[in-house]
Amino acid sequence: MSQQEQISHVLIFPLPVQGHVNSMLRLAELLCLSNLHVTFLNSVHNHDRLLRFSDIRTRLERYPGFVFETFPDGLPEDHPRSGDRVMDIFYAIDGVAKPLIKELFKRLVCDTVPPLTCVIAGGAFEFVHEFAEELGIPTICFRTISCCSFWVYYCLPKLIEAGELPLKGKEDLDRKIEKVPGMETILRGRDLPSFFRHSDINNRDVQLVLRVNRASSRADALILNTFEDIDALLLSHIRCHFPKVFTIGPLHAHLKSRLSRAATTCDPSGGNSFWEEDKSCIPWLNTMPLKSVIYVSFGSITVLSKDQMFEFWHGLVNSGKPFLWVIRPDSIIRENGSGHVPEELLEATKKRGCMVEWVPQEEVLFHPAIGGFLTHSGWNSTIESMVAGVPMICWPYFADQQVNSRLVSEVWKVGLDMKDTCDRLIVEKMVRDLMDERREDFLQATKEISEMARKSVSEGGSSYLNLDRLVEEIRLMRV
Ligand code: UDP
Repeated sequence: MSQQEQISHVLIFPLPVQGHVNSMLRLAELLCLSNLHVTFLNSVHNHDRLLRFSDIRTRLERYPGFVFETFPDGLPEDHPRSGDRVMDIFYAIDGVAKPLIKELFKRLVCDTVPPLTCVIAGGAFEFVHEFAEELGIPTICFRTISCCSFWVYYCLPKLIEAGELPLKGKEDLDRKIEKVPGMETILRGRDLPSFFRHSDINNRDVQLVLRVNRASSRADALILNTFEDIDALLLSHIRCHFPKVFTIGPLHAHLKSRLSRAATTCDPSGGNSFWEEDKSCIPWLNTMPLKSVIYVSFGSITVLSKDQMFEFWHGLVNSGKPFLWVIRPDSIIRENGSGHVPEELLEATKKRGCMVEWVPQEEVLFHPAIGGFLTHSGWNSTIESMVAGVPMICWPYFADQQVNSRLVSEVWKVGLDMKDTCDRLIVEKMVRDLMDERREDFLQATKEISEMARKSVSEGGSSYLNLDRLVEEIRLMRV
């Protein structure tokens, strides 16, 4: 066998949504830095946007072993792929793209040099593990959600068995949940993932979680975008079920750290955006006092009704704090044909803040003018905010976000949780608490976590060592 054929070749297959693609691309680059050959599988829809709005091609083309492959996600081009319709992606891929992906697996194993030796998948699709098993390829599951969310999802059968699910009515939302080991004093019904709120456990979202659990259990190892210090207790439980768990996060900080060690000329802050980054907010931030601005963004999937948007807007304005608010073009629910930000609101905002459609979030969070983050508690946003030392107000929208916001407020104590409310008085009060009244406590707690995170990705830190172990594990995988 030639030397080239000895190189390990990894196929990375994320769930095709912004947050998952973001963290998987960071992992891809980290593996390329360790001289592994990486094929990254994107949906055509996302790939076109990535090429249009990011510098990904230039950044990744410098790795000789990096290749993109694409597949159609099976949805019409004008499908929103946001709000609760984002779930359509799962079902469409399961139907349309499955045979194409099977062909791709075969081609990568049989006709590619070096041949495929390992698949790293987001865990959403059980068929990935089936195909890989048929071809004798080991799989690694990379769950891009938080450690606790992963664990809560995994405990779903236990919760059903113990009668803690389904939740029977509103009163169950405040009941303590006892069957998630390690979280007995923390979680209430309302802190469980939104998919668990269905009164019928045969609902398709609940069934999907069970399928995803099965997929994760079939993998040979598990990767989590976290670090040991913040999740030690839960990791000890998870390791009883998954003997090989690699915690290698925070991935964005890890990538930055490794790129600077490798002394590359590449810009480590380059984004992986599906929307055009509007950098006009940076000169605006430059005019603002230190830690005075609240950054508002609900990620890539959340949609808001006009009423919700007005509640946030009034709360922010009444707090008296300047704000930078990201409102994606597709994030307002259409009422009477229009999904745009109302003109009067845009006008009024000019005096008090800045509204843009998409920003380079990592850069914004590190800007000295940012003092707080009103977020939907997506895991990427949460961990990015913790690394930047920015406390949060959490308004979780769906899926794992309900769990994350609880940890932010009750475990790590780096912010406030406003789940299940959307009221201008609460927004105003929370902004004041975060930015004034309780500011020092939150800043201190966030600073400590930020330091731990940076240590974990520095040479000798837990995530640093775990990534080296992961690369070694992949190198040992041979078909
Ligand atoms: N993001 C960004 N610019 C924005 C808003 C979000 O670059 O204006 C990025 C953010 O940094 C994060 C990702 O989009 O990495 C959103 O992922 P997250 O897990 O927070 O939420 P999701 O979009 O999956 O709900």
